[in-house]
Parts: sequence; C-alpha cells; structure tokens
Amino acid sequence: MKIIVQKFGGTSVAGLERMKLVKAKVEKKLNQGYKVVVVLSAMAGETDRLIALANEFSKDPDPAELDVLLTTGEQVSIALFTMLLKDANIKARSLLGFQIPIHTDKAFGKARILDIDTEKMMDLLKTYDVLVVAGFQGCDFQKNLTTLGRGGSDTSAVALAAALNAEMCEIYTDVDGVYTTDPNVCSKARKLQKIAYDEMLEMASMGAKVLQIRSVEFAKKYNVPIHVRSTFSDEPGTLVVKEDEIMESVLVSGIAYDKDQARITLVDIYDEPGIAAAIFEPLAAYDIVVDMIVQNPSHEGRTDLTFTVSRKELKDALKIIERVKDEIGAKEVFYDPDVAKVSIIGVGMRNHSGVAAIAFKALKSENINILMISTSEIKISCLIKEKYTELAVRTLHEAFGLDKEPTVENN
Ligand code: ADP
Ligand code: ASP
Ligand code: MG
Repeated sequence: MKIIVQKFGGTSVAGLERMKLVKAKVEKKLNQGYKVVVVLSAMAGETDRLIALANEFSKDPDPAELDVLLTTGEQVSIALFTMLLKDANIKARSLLGFQIPIHTDKAFGKARILDIDTEKMMDLLKTYDVLVVAGFQGCDFQKNLTTLGRGGSDTSAVALAAALNAEMCEIYTDVDGVYTTDPNVCSKARKLQKIAYDEMLEMASMGAKVLQIRSVEFAKKYNVPIHVRSTFSDEPGTLVVKEDEIMESVLVSGIAYDKDQARITLVDIYDEPGIAAAIFEPLAAYDIVVDMIVQNPSHEGRTDLTFTVSRKELKDALKIIERVKDEIGAKEVFYDPDVAKVSIIGVGMRNHSGVAAIAFKALKSENINILMISTSEIKISCLIKEKYTELAVRTLHEAFGLDKEPTVENN
C-alpha cells in the first residue's frame, strides 16, 4: 500500500474555496494510486481566537481545559473537509487524535508524542482512501486531551508519516517552500530546493515557524522526507533531506529571527560554585527554557549573569528569581522584554572561520548594537533590540549574498 501524508496549515483551510484547493491536492495523489492521510490545522486565526476567549473567561486558564478548548479548532476543519470529500464520492472519514489514538505525555499545551497506534489506521486504510486527521492533538494514557504546542500540526503529520511508513510527508502552507529567510520580512529571500535536516532544525529552533521544530526532529530521527510547498500553486517546494543529498556547498544557508525573547540580568551575584545551579534548577523545575547565558565577573568574588527566556515565561522566571535573589546575593535584577534574536545558520560554517566577523560588521554598518552572542558549530545568534529585527535580517541576508544562487559543486 502506497501511503502519503499531506498536511495543510490554517490559511489553506480558511474557508470553502480554499478547502476545494486542498481537495484537488488530495485527488491528485489518489489518482496516482496513493492512500492519503490528510492532517489539518484549525482554520486561520481560530486557535488565536480560542486562546483569547479562554483569557477572557479566566485570569489563568487551566491548562487541561485549555487543551480541551483548543482541540476543537482542528475538529471543525476535519469534519467540514471530510464532508467535502464525501460529496465528491471519495471514501473518507475523519479521525480525532484520541480516536487513533496518538498518545502523548501529560504536558498540556506542549505535549510530546509518545506513540501512535497504527494498527487501526492501517485497517481503516483498507476501507477508506483518505483518512482526515486532526493535527496538533493527542491524548495521554488516561484519555485526557492534549495539544502539541503552536504549529504542532506539522509534528502530527511527520509523526504519522513515520509511524505509517509513508513515502513522503508534504507540508502545504502559504509560502511555496523554505526560503533563505522569512519571505514576508525580506523580499530578496530565495527559495531553497533542498535543506538538510540539521539546518532546518536550527532554522526552526531559531524562530523560522514554517516548520515546528519537533516535526523536524521526528523527520530526522525516522528519516522521513518532507516536502514544504504551497497549497496555492503546483510549483515544487523545498525538500528537507539528509545532508549528503545536498549538492550545493554553501557557508550560510539562512537567517532566522525570534521575537519571543526576553533578557534577565542578575547584578553582582556571588561568584562561587553552586550559584548557577541555584538559579537554573528552579527555572528548569518550572519547565522554563533558558536560552543564551553570559556570565562576566564584575569584581573580586562577584559576577553579573545575563540570560534569555521566552517572553511568555518572563513573568514566571522573574517570580522564581525573586525567591532565590537573597541566596545568590543579587544586588539588582534587570529585565528587558523588547529584545529579539537573529541567527545565521549553515552547516558550511563547520569548516570555516570569519562568519561571525562578517555578521558583526554588517550589523555595525546599520548601527545595530549586539546585546548578547551565542554560537554553535552551525549557527551564530545575536540578541538585539526588537525594533531592529527586520533591518538586521535584511542586512545579514545581503551581507552573506543569500539573494544570489550559490555555486553548485558535486561533492
Ligand atoms: P501554516 O499555518 O501553514 O502552518 P505558518 O504560518 O505556521 O503556516 O508558517 C508559514 C510562515 O512561516 C510563512 O508565512 C512565513 O512568514 C514564515 N517563515 C519564517 N521563516 C521562513 C522561511 N525561512 N521560509 C519560509 N517561511 C518562513
Ligand atoms: N492550530 C494550531 C496553531 O495555530 C496548530 C497548527 O496550526 O499547527 O498553532
Ligand atoms: Mg505552522
């Protein structure tokens, strides 16, 4: 049985006319002899609407109930789309996450998929040509509904493709592929024909929301080829594949940005063993992810420590810091919620130096101050004031010549 998974994002299912385009994409694959597993998001804006509604009803919405609410968005999409297919005499049925079931842990709002029962789906695929699955949702082993974090339908799709041994996972969205940077920010962004899993992983974790990071982790782990493409055209998009399948040899493949950042500085804390643990252990216990960390001794026995967290978690992080403030001897605590992280990504950086210098010089040319820097083998990130984000993205894109086609080398 040839199986393909096709995932359609919120803009692709935003109304009847758009769903007709989705139907055409599905029919094309049916005509090629595939059984199709369609994964749908909620209609554009629906998840945001539901979150706003929850915040109207509660100061601090209960995470489990919020997930019960949010899963309704995808439920609407799959029911309507399946009706459309049935009217066209296509053998189809809808499936909610818990009906499969897609089992997750209990982390409401950011649950991780633990296993997918494929037996029932494989059985259903003998009867039905199309299974329309609600993205973004699953359930824990006690049948509580869970959601997978914003953008989670990508992860549902790739996880299903892996579990069902599908030939390909197509991710249909409102752009026609993965670009060198967000095409909605930089008009010179160039579409990539292929991108390596590791580069896509960095792009996604540095803020490029075209794919949810966990979907790329799944794809890499289970070797699922992903094709990111547009619902609104037939153009081929971008293939996310293993590094050795990429012919282009480039230093930098893309620029990503993340505005969901906040910076916290602890001034003049004790410079002795155990202090960092006293700060970061309670943050970790609250599931607060700390990203960049910089420590620089201020004077004898004292140091300043600066780190970044997601802006959404700033309030909680500050509450925790307040509790440990005396233990670590902090004289003052500063914070800044108006910061953003801009990252330069490329597996080619592994064997080259000088990338950082080019980036810093480019930012200086626009008078953009760098607040923090962090590097890895294939990435350089700079924290800057949020208002300069778009300018920084365009400046770095230009500095690394990303608008031009790279030279192709056979390696
Ligand atoms: P969907 O609703 O289909 O899941 P998303 O809004 O989650 O779509 O993701 C698509 C968006 O990702 C694009 O509209 C674009 O603004 C953004 N994006 C950010 N970085 C990139 C990139 N490097 N290439 C393509 N799109 C990107
Ligand atoms: N509807 C969810 C969201 O808006 C999941 C998704 O679209 O991938 O985040
Ligand atoms: Mg998305």
